[in-house]
Amino acid sequence: MRIIVTGGAGFLGRHLCAKMLSLGHEVLCVDNLLTGRRENIEEFEQNSAFRFFLHDVTTPFVLDGPVNAVVHMACPASPPDYLRYPIQTLEVGTIGTRNMLELARAKGARFLLTSTSEVYGDPTVNPQSEEYWGNVNPIGPRSVYDESKRASEALTMAYRRAHGLDTRIARIFNTYGPWMRPDDGRVISNFVMQALQGKELTIYGDGSQTRSFCYVTDLVEGLVRMLLAESDSGAAGASGSEWGINYPVNLGNPREEKVVDVARIITQMTGSSSPVKFHPLPTDDPKLRCPDISRARRLLRWEPIVSLEEGLTAVIKYFRKCLGS
Ligand code: UDP
Repeated sequence: MRIIVTGGAGFLGRHLCAKMLSLGHEVLCVDNLLTGRRENIEEFEQNSAFRFFLHDVTTPFVLDGPVNAVVHMACPASPPDYLRYPIQTLEVGTIGTRNMLELARAKGARFLLTSTSEVYGDPTVNPQSEEYWGNVNPIGPRSVYDESKRASEALTMAYRRAHGLDTRIARIFNTYGPWMRPDDGRVISNFVMQALQGKELTIYGDGSQTRSFCYVTDLVEGLVRMLLAESDSGAAGASGSEWGINYPVNLGNPREEKVVDVARIITQMTGSSSPVKFHPLPTDDPKLRCPDISRARRLLRWEPIVSLEEGLTAVIKYFRKCLGS
């Protein structure tokens, strides 16, 4: 397959590019490097099956030749990043998604959108299944990301309905692993970096909020299965249990942890003597988050296999290397 990966120089994008190259596919990585990094993809640049295009997808992307699939991952994804780039975040999920859908349509290509658990906002049900419509503050600071991704989903479903495009939507829950930016501001990278440097671990709120952390290799395996799965008629049943592959699928690890417990686990695993320090909870920070992955299990025969402890061992090793220690 010849595949376009937007956001391919980001954390997840980098891992997806690596996986698709290892499976023998041709990868065209499109990224404006707003939050992605050239160093993430450096090792592929000698590979003739890989090409990098420095391009902002809010401008149409023109390319000769066939394309079999477009994976649209481009978007700032960590809260500090999307709060720093609010307009760009909204634009990439609206104008950018529209441009990439048009490209897929012009090429007759399959389209995979990487959406997010943030479409559920601060959920009132736990765990979250794909049928849940969410509880999003449309005008709060996080709305630039949440509504951008919700608009991306709406556009994707509209292209499927209006043009019969072969579309898929992965709702990705918190994911971590090597190649995260040490300064990306998310909880795992912050805690590991702080613990390794003997700095205070910054817990926001009282740390009782929960997240469910998926190791990146598990997540990428789920994405690849979604991308390669045969299209079905996408039975539009009233209930999510009848939905086919062309409806959203949660990808995440169902093990739910309190943030305060994550801090403890990381302190223990790094052997750090860093204390914790409590800071105000960011506005609209979701209190709970845990995926119901029944659909991924049924449609993709997928579930995570890497434990939090195994994943953290790899991440700690990676960040130690980043610090040169
Ligand atoms: N968090 C924290 N300390 C940090 C960074 C994040 O306590 O240094 C909390 C944050 O408030 C949230 C959870 O950890 O409740 C996950 O945050 P992250 O930014 O990783 O992802 P989110 O799920 O909010 O997108």
